Amino acid sequence: MAAMTPTNAEEFARARAAMPGGVSSPVRAFGSVQTTPRFFVSAAGPYVTDVEGREYVDLVGSWGPAILGHAHPAVVQVVQDAATRGLGFGASTPGETQLAELIRDRVVRDGVDGPIEKLRLVSTGTEATMTAIRLARGATGRDLVVKFAGHYHGHSDGLLAEAGSGVATLALPGSAGVPAAIAAQTLVLPYNDLDAIREVFAARGDEIAAVIVEASAANMGVVPPAPGFNSALADIAHAHGALLIVDEVLTGFRVGSAGWWGIDPVPFEADLLTFGKVVGGGLPLAALGGRSEIMDLLAPLGPVYQAGTLSGNPLAVAAGLATLQHLDAEAYARIDAGADTIADAASSALAAEGVTHVVQRAGNLFSIVFAGTAPRDYDEVKAQDAFRYPPFFRAMLEAGVSLPPSVFEAWFVSSSHDDAAISRILDALPAAARAAASATA
Ligand SMILES: *Cc1c(COP(=O)(O)O)cnc(C)c1O
Repeated sequence: MAAMTPTNAEEFARARAAMPGGVSSPVRAFGSVQTTPRFFVSAAGPYVTDVEGREYVDLVGSWGPAILGHAHPAVVQVVQDAATRGLGFGASTPGETQLAELIRDRVVRDGVDGPIEKLRLVSTGTEATMTAIRLARGATGRDLVVKFAGHYHGHSDGLLAEAGSGVATLALPGSAGVPAAIAAQTLVLPYNDLDAIREVFAARGDEIAAVIVEASAANMGVVPPAPGFNSALADIAHAHGALLIVDEVLTGFRVGSAGWWGIDPVPFEADLLTFGKVVGGGLPLAALGGRSEIMDLLAPLGPVYQAGTLSGNPLAVAAGLATLQHLDAEAYARIDAGADTIADAASSALAAEGVTHVVQRAGNLFSIVFAGTAPRDYDEVKAQDAFRYPPFFRAMLEAGVSLPPSVFEAWFVSSSHDDAAISRILDALPAAARAAASATA
């Protein structure tokens, strides 16, 4: 007799015995949505399939990288080709330069050169932001870093204070295991509050190496910057000799071909930008870039050390190159249109059930907030009726739609979300809205 395929619940039980929480990254445990996590075995285009053979329309997209849809044939092909030539050399390859050039040349606005002259490739967004901060400290000779509550920049020690994403989902103030002396080097401010920035710079401006900001916040749900916020931030930091690090790990190459930097209603100057997620096309790759005078402070030219055995891995570089090459204006138009349709339908379904909510947008990124007014910062985000999300999420999952398993995460549409996939989402929304309406705190 053929072996029975295990259920998601059986896989989760087995995983929990072998791995903390049964996961390799916390949000995957589905703790905040109170249901069994799905264990996926394959994916194609807008669909993912779990161990029980159930197919879901996916709006997580591997947290962004699957922007062309899962297992895009052109991306898979170049990765297969690259694999046959060797999985990695621990030495330089032409593809790394090509990817660096491609990123540099894409991050332009109105035909004017962008903020990136040179780029370093790393493997995760965490490494990119961690290195950007080390670089800013090396460049300025200062120690303090300013970050915003609810912004997520990966899991390095200094950046976990009041972080978004999984830290927000688990309602943690930060993390155990971060020495107080390190936490004290990070000043956490409310987002979208320029007075708070001015105050902290007035008091300690000559000790601040950098401000790090998500280009648009999207790890506490989507909270766009107030128009002119990023540009004022740059001006204030620069007036005090500090750098602005713009974290585009989530927004980069997603909201447009030059990231949020390219579409912010008020253009702004960034000293260092960080990328991840989309830039690796689904494989582990991330990057940081900026002006040569700053980037050349990195080893081997300069005194700021950074290295990586797997940095610039040829499979990841191939996937990143192919993904960026396929992300043309038409692909972005499809993603934007899909996001409009899904966001509008979700909002209509909730309105029809009388559920108080707003849809927060940052380009094609969006999320739903169960509140009457659009939140501008983490405190306002946390004040929403978050209890409405788990039943909404579970109803969508039951109907075959995989949403982000936390109210504090953005929804990710891909260019492969065609009419068939989108109508499955739209069909699922009314019942989910009813579930949200009848939820109790
Ligand atoms: C995901 C994310 C990171 C961390 O990237 P990892 O690859 O998960 O380490 C950093 N910054 C932002 C804005 C992110 O969304």
